[in-house]
Amino acid sequence: MSIEFDSIQTLREALDGKAISATELTKHFLSRIDQLDPSLNSYITVEHERALSTAAAIDKKLMAGERATLLGIPIAEKDIFCTEGVRTTAGSKMLAEYRPPFDSTATANLAAAGVIRLGKCNLDEFAMGSSNENSYFGAVKNPWNQERVPGGSSGGSAAAVAGGLCVAATGTDTGGSIRQPSAFCGLTGIKPTYGRVSRWGMIAFASSLDQAGPMARSAADAALLLEAMAGPDEKDSSCLTVSVDPYSTLIRQPLEGMRIGIVRSLLAEGLSESIAEAFEDCRKGLEKLGATFVEIELMHHHHSVGAYYVIAPAEASANLARYDGVRFGYRCEDPADLQDLYLRSRNEGFGDEVKRRILVGTFALSAGYYDAYYKQAQRVRRLIQGDFLQAFDQVDMILTPTTPTTAFSLGENTEDPVAMYLQDIYTISANLAGLPAISFPAGMSLGLPIGLQLVGPHLKEATLLSCVHQFQQVTDWHHQHPRNWA
Ligand code: GLN
Repeated sequence: MSIEFDSIQTLREALDGKAISATELTKHFLSRIDQLDPSLNSYITVEHERALSTAAAIDKKLMAGERATLLGIPIAEKDIFCTEGVRTTAGSKMLAEYRPPFDSTATANLAAAGVIRLGKCNLDEFAMGSSNENSYFGAVKNPWNQERVPGGSSGGSAAAVAGGLCVAATGTDTGGSIRQPSAFCGLTGIKPTYGRVSRWGMIAFASSLDQAGPMARSAADAALLLEAMAGPDEKDSSCLTVSVDPYSTLIRQPLEGMRIGIVRSLLAEGLSESIAEAFEDCRKGLEKLGATFVEIELMHHHHSVGAYYVIAPAEASANLARYDGVRFGYRCEDPADLQDLYLRSRNEGFGDEVKRRILVGTFALSAGYYDAYYKQAQRVRRLIQGDFLQAFDQVDMILTPTTPTTAFSLGENTEDPVAMYLQDIYTISANLAGLPAISFPAGMSLGLPIGLQLVGPHLKEATLLSCVHQFQQVTDWHHQHPRNWA
């Protein structure tokens, strides 16, 4: 059976109109996974039985006339969200056998909305990376070109959606990990305002930056998922208590009268020509839809990669201290004594990039260097946030590229961590400032998707989603698929 879908809405109609059952839909995706994922490697765990039994239960509900927007929609979860009784690895040997006794709030919210979980997606170890080459479970391939990376750290989620191995997926974004892989794979992915989605049960990388969000084919699909994932949560004290906007309704807002900021200095050196052209085309397209463009400055933007690569490792070094081989996670064989147990468990359980971050972070937090590095980086962070807040006095959102290039080749940046870190140049500042930001497809170059980004004021997810939705009404980049997609 071949199933063509272009939106959750069309699947919704098919399910409600009994043109297809949730079980048939689930079987369709499971068989595609069995057939295509051995080469993509986008899933770490496929939950065949559980997905089919959830689907059977949902079919009964549908038969009984129950209706809900996400009821029976098959999705995948990044393997960093804890799932009760189902292995949750964070892409690490350290957690290769970890079965959490609870569900993350984001996962539980989606389950309550009626989604069917097909499995858990591959990622860079503890979400550290920009290419998905840092996973203990192997690199993921980009479905558009299997010699290219899908981006990271939510590379498995991106490849699974782009490859037609699920309808949509969850991701997490600490410095760009929802937006960069969305750009590389031709998807629409949104990192909400910090605190919009609960972090409870989401394995921590850098707690003041981590944020969960959806990766989907379109802004309309992303809006539906975000509406279900987001919301207050007593279990996470950094989770916002304000109620969630009805994104899926608000996406219909027209663009007329919106002011969009452009930062010229971000379009200068280092940006590939094809992305600069796509940026110009998009700008013209948005103007036609009624937006006006205003040139703005973000004075401290060029310090964002530097500040991030001090703050994120510092927080990671603290968060990862819990993996000590004693309480849970990997434990080395036959430790000679306690010290040996700690040392060897961590040495054998963590990969190279994670060790690099722990070393950098521990150094930045150490007594002699705390003021010079960590405190300084926090000050820079505040300046970066201030620039944005000032800009939002003038504009409703800011348009930038998501990435400096399209998907690069596997292995291209693995020997040079700094080159890899520079991939995040356009995405990181939104995390430092806690702002919502969305990446959406806006062109193609040599068979690879181009993504552009909109950054908005705190809690203005609806503005970003509606802008992209209006753009997607007049473009079809989000309808393009890699070969083999069905
Ligand atoms: N590429 C960035 C890093 O490696 C961002 C990762 C993320 O957003 N999880 O830290």
